[in-house]
Amino acid sequence: MIKKNDVVSMSYVLKNENGEELGRAEAKEPLNYLHGAGNIVPGLESAIDGLAIGDKKDVTILPENGYGNVDPALMLKIARSNFPSDIEIKPNMQFSSDMGGQERVFTVDSVEGDDVCVNGNHPLAGETLNFSVEILAIREATKEELEHGHVHDGSGHHH
Ligand code: ZN
Repeated sequence: MIKKNDVVSMSYVLKNENGEELGRAEAKEPLNYLHGAGNIVPGLESAIDGLAIGDKKDVTILPENGYGNVDPALMLKIARSNFPSDIEIKPNMQFSSDMGGQERVFTVDSVEGDDVCVNGNHPLAGETLNFSVEILAIREATKEELEHGHVHDGSGHHH
């Protein structure tokens, strides 16, 4: 059964409240994560706790246990002059900014004259998440994985 510090492999389909698919991982390319390390959203991690290999589960996760609610304070209007003049600022461009010692990614929503509207919320903030998961494999984490707080895939790839 899945417990803290296990490495879990699972396939999943993620849909929003309207049944639109937001993402998936197939069995041949599963999501591998370190259980109990906050690698996945809290609502999903607690729903998976105690499952076994072969178990399937449908989970509905409210925003507060998912990617959080939309924070209006992270939707900002910034003067164009704050951006480098030699770069064309366009919608969907992303940049990171240090906010109170935490790195946060902002996405450009729109450019209105001399103002640039940016959004620092997670793209799935405010969404109710419907996960259908299947547990494919469970193994103990290595010492190194526990030290790093994430899964290593065994191919020498490190992230
Ligand atoms: Zn690592």
